[in-house]
Parts: sequence; structure tokens; C-alpha cells
Amino acid sequence: MSDAAHDVIVIGGGPGGYAAALYGASAGLDVAVVEKAKVGGTCLHVGCIPAKELLEAASVYRTVARAAAFGVSAGEPSLDWPAVLDRKQQVIDKMMSGLSSVLRQRKVTVHPGVGSLGGPGTVRVSSDDGAERTLPSEAVILATGSTPRTIGGFDVDGELVVTSDELFSIGRLPASAAVIGGGAIGCEFASMMGDLGTEVTVLEALPNILTGCDAEVAKAVRRSFRKRGIEVYTGVTVHGHEPRPDRSGTVVSFGEGKHVDVEMVVVAVGRRPRTESLGLDAAGVELDDRGFIAVDGRCRTTAEGVWAVGDVVDSPQLAHTAFAEGMLAVCDILGEDPDPLDHHGTPWCIYCHPEVAFAGHTEQSAIDAGFDVVTSMHRYMANGRAQILGETEGLVKVVAERQADGTGGRILGVHMAGPWVTEQLGQAYLAVNWEATVDDVARLIQPHPTMSELFGETVLSLTGRALHG
Ligand code: NAD
Repeated sequence: MSDAAHDVIVIGGGPGGYAAALYGASAGLDVAVVEKAKVGGTCLHVGCIPAKELLEAASVYRTVARAAAFGVSAGEPSLDWPAVLDRKQQVIDKMMSGLSSVLRQRKVTVHPGVGSLGGPGTVRVSSDDGAERTLPSEAVILATGSTPRTIGGFDVDGELVVTSDELFSIGRLPASAAVIGGGAIGCEFASMMGDLGTEVTVLEALPNILTGCDAEVAKAVRRSFRKRGIEVYTGVTVHGHEPRPDRSGTVVSFGEGKHVDVEMVVVAVGRRPRTESLGLDAAGVELDDRGFIAVDGRCRTTAEGVWAVGDVVDSPQLAHTAFAEGMLAVCDILGEDPDPLDHHGTPWCIYCHPEVAFAGHTEQSAIDAGFDVVTSMHRYMANGRAQILGETEGLVKVVAERQADGTGGRILGVHMAGPWVTEQLGQAYLAVNWEATVDDVARLIQPHPTMSELFGETVLSLTGRALHG
């Protein structure tokens, strides 16, 4: 059976897909989304939202544990894991219902089923009941996201070995866990589980955790993990694991003859694009040499009339990058000649404790790019609001171009670890992306007492004068 043509059909209803749909509909386009599960994608159901919700439970636990220091008696905290999962689900359900209703209001049609490219200008939708439909469309946006990578010898069974897909619904928090991979997902899970009572060991292949972050930031997180009993091994190869006979746990072997006996293994070694069953070959949509859908700066694929956005393309695997790409593709479809995105200035926020947030060059990447740099670093220990909060771990580091007199010129990058830095990144993000100079920012007044004034102080010291440090 054949249907009336849409202006745009988006395959995949995650952040890239629903952003394209909502933005396109608000620009007057007739947009449809094909979704095989629930709208919201990885981010809403097994990614950003549940991860941050569980990290918030960990934060409440830490706060209760130290309440006595504020003169508030709350007793020893104890964990009700099913209640934690219930609250996480309530948040997801509310967000999901909000998203579904805004899609309805914008008159975006959601076609349930698996979408693939049909002949030119068509999308095939296969439903659970075996029915097939062919939907004509002027333009198609592929936004099918990504799925966790796994490693050899660690078959994911949802009990002994899990990925982020399973972890959000495990029946109980394990007493001990090995987290393979010290990237964003690995560090967020390690932090959350460690704070809620799991004995955590992180096993990272590279020389440091949080590759891509400034070295000082990664060091601050690692120091905090160590203080909280989270073991971190870097530069280690993980060889395999040997489950106990009753499968109550498993022994993971790594490095030079090292072992760790744990109840659960969490595999967090990256995510791969979900490109299978999209009918790419027949449609002339090419992949790049890393298996992502090849696109140009405007998210156009190698096939006429087909765009791709979000985790299926090789750009930062972040929901907000997917939003931006979804909107960019719509602008291109509308013929608005949009500028390509500058991924270099992407805001990064990692919600482990202490939180991490950054934008722009690290000190090392600025040097590697040929800049003569000057840096300044201030610690939350010296910040009044952080002292009041009792959250004094972490720092702000600003990387600027060095001027002839040794002071800072253009701000190239800002790197933060510490309390609520994910909410403090905003002004740093603007400074980097508007190519502000140290002088531009140093003359602005920062509210006192706030944690965000540490950014102002750090920039101020690059003028060659300073207040506190
Ligand atoms: P990642 O690429 O950020 O980190 C994976 C880590 O696993 C790397 O440090 C890598 O060196 C390590 N690794 C790979 N193979 C290994 C092995 N065999 N043994 C030990 N270590 C190994 O990937 P991720 O943490 O899984 O996250 C996936 C994507 O999602 C990333 O792009 C990430 O940035 C994004 N994400 C972002 C956030 C956030 O910004 N808050 C949160 C979650 C996920």
C-alpha cells in the first residue's frame, strides 16, 4: 500500500531524529518519524537521562551521609534500589509523554516500525505484525543512533556482563563491579555505583581515563575516585573473565597477571553506529572507513535527497550534537545554505563526581595546533560558595593565546572539574565560541558568592593582575 508524500521522513526518533522533526515542523514542513521502539532514543531511555537520574540519587546519598557536618542529623543513608529505579522511570515517562505530546501538537506523524530506504524518494516501514508500507518523501534523514560496542570474551548476558543498555534495569546493585573503559560512560557508572556502595574497579586501556579531557581535569577526577575507594587501572589490557561455578560473580584477568573478583562486569568501551538494515548499499549511501555514514558538512550523504545526523555519523556522540545536526539538515533541506557545524567548540559535560565540563582546546591540543599558549588554573578550594557547599574538589583551567607581553589574548579553551560545572560551562562556552579575549571577559562582573566566579577569577589572572590567586 502507498501513502501521501511527506516533505521529510526521519528514520529514528532519538535526539537527532526528533529535533529534525520538531524543527522541520516548526518551519512548516510536513514531517514524519519512523520509530521501531519508543521516541526519545538512547538519550531518553538508556542514556543521558537515566544516567544523570541515577547520578543524582548518588549525590543525594552523599549529601545525606555528610548531613551531620551541617548540623543536620539524618542518620546513616541506606539504599532502596527498586525505589531508585522507579524514580528514574517516572522521570523518563514524564519526558516521553512531553515529547509525544509536542510531536502531536506539531502534527509530526509517528509511523511505528523499522524504517529503511526504498527506491529513490521512498522509505519502507516494516511493522511488528509483518505489514510493509512504502512512504514517499521529498527528503529522508537517517537518525538511527548507535549501540554499545562489546569486546571479545565478554558476552553480554544482562547479569554477569552488562552494557549501558542493561545497567539501567538491573535488579540490584552489585557489591563489586569491574568497569571496562574509563571514558564518559565508564566514569559516570563508576562514580554512581561507587557512591552507592559498590566496590568499583575501572580498567582502561589508554594511559589515562577521560581521554580528550585536559590532563588536569582527568587528574582531579582520578584523585577523587581514589579518595572514594574507586580503583582505577590505566594502560591495561583486559584478557577475559572466568565466571564462578554458581555464576554469582566472575574473575576478570587484566594487565600482567592481575585479577579482580567481581559480581558484575560493565562494558563501556564506546558505541558503534546502527547502520544495518537501513538498505544503504542499494540506495547508494556510503559508509566511511570507520563504519559511520559518510556525510559532508551539511549532513548530506552520498545519495541525493538523503541526510544523516546524530550517532550514525562521525561527530561527537552527544545528544546536543545530534540536535544541532538535525536542525542543520532541515535548514539544508529548506535551501537556506547553512554554515557547517564547528565540532571543535562543542560543549562537553560529563556527570561523574566531580563533574567535568569543557569547550575548545586543551592545553596540549592548542600546542599541537601551533598556538603559543598561556594558561591559568584556579581551584574550588578557594571559592566561598564551594566551601559553603562542602564541595571543594576540582578546578577551572583557561587556555589562551599568549600575547607578546605574556598576558592572555583569545580564549582557546576552558576546562572544569568540580561542583555543578556542567551548569557553569555556559559562559565559558560562549567565550570560546565567540572567540572572546581575556580582556573582553575580565571586565565583566561575576556574581558573588557563586561557583561560577571561579571562571572570572581564572580569566582575570591571565590579564597579568589578579584578586585572590
Ligand atoms: P568512550 O569512547 O568515551 O570511552 C571508551 C573508553 O574505553 C576509552 O577510554 C577506551 O580507551 C576504552 N577502551 C576501549 N576498549 C577497551 C578495552 N578493550 N579495555 C579497556 N578499555 C578499553 O566511550 P563511552 O564512554 O562508551 O561512551 C560512548 C560515547 O557516548 C562517547 O562518544 C561518549 O563521549 C558519549 N557519551 C557522552 C556522555 C557525556 O558526555 N556525559 C555520557 C555518555 C556517553
